[in-house]
Amino acid sequence: MKYGMRGVVLFVVFNSVMGMASQTNGFPAPPPPPGSPSAAVGTKYDEIKKYLRAIEAQFPHNAKLISIGLSDSGEQIEGLRIGNGAIKNLVVGTHHGNEYGSTEVAKGFARSVAETPLAGQTLFVIPVLNIKGYNSGIRWESIADGSHDPNRDYPGPCGTEGPFKLKSTAALAKFIDEQGIVGSATLHTYSPAVLYPWGISTHDLATPYDPLFKQLVADATVESHYATGNSTALLYPADGTFEDYAFWKHGVWSILFELGSSHSPGNAAVQEMIKVNVPGMRRMFDQVPSERAQNHAFTGKCDVRLMGLDRHDE
Ligand SMILES: [Zn+2]
Repeated sequence: MKYGMRGVVLFVVFNSVMGMASQTNGFPAPPPPPGSPSAAVGTKYDEIKKYLRAIEAQFPHNAKLISIGLSDSGEQIEGLRIGNGAIKNLVVGTHHGNEYGSTEVAKGFARSVAETPLAGQTLFVIPVLNIKGYNSGIRWESIADGSHDPNRDYPGPCGTEGPFKLKSTAALAKFIDEQGIVGSATLHTYSPAVLYPWGISTHDLATPYDPLFKQLVADATVESHYATGNSTALLYPADGTFEDYAFWKHGVWSILFELGSSHSPGNAAVQEMIKVNVPGMRRMFDQVPSERAQNHAFTGKCDVRLMGLDRHDE
């Protein structure tokens, strides 16, 4: 026997103090032999999977674990379906793997709507789209043929770097089509700003819905005081983004959040991002129309000279 009685008592006390309760009789599992599959350290995404299950367990009547499909790395892209309303809306974080602040705001929003669902709505929350990038802290998602920017991988009216070289973006596109998603918030870091279409390579930035979009981003920024406007005007043009794709293809009311003022926020900054954005997101979704936009075609002119302005950094 390895431990004397006093050793066992001390060990159990130590375990409970450190929160290290394990699956086997209160003792930590012995380390697996080096090189065995189970020797792998848990990934950052494993923590997201645990979080989603914890929310589901805590709010079983409101929250249900979902998957939108497999990533190229062979993992299920998981999320939560929250609430039971007829109108289906969507929150997606972490198209860009290094933007962990967006992951945390998605998690905070999921908790908020699981505690208090939005009336008449079902919210789908996918905290991490780019699992491989998130695990390695890298913007791009890498597959066999190289690395791709997931938020340039959707079809778009002025071009794309894809389309759909990645399984993750193809899965999300399929999901919004099949579910009939009406409104969406995609979360990134950083600017700070909250943006609406068009964000493509054009000078013709207006949509028939500018007054409505302006109201939605105003609703979203009451607490944060973030800047608002067109992506192209406020940041830079980018072709192949989810936001423009979802509006152009389906008339989804799609809003882009560039959260906070850093790609590497500390804990206090992350908490502040959650605090000032979750209430705005709730207010915005309360005001999103119950049906998709009807006039969502792009009728302007593309200007290919603008394409070089895409910095690929937000
Ligand atoms: Zn981003």
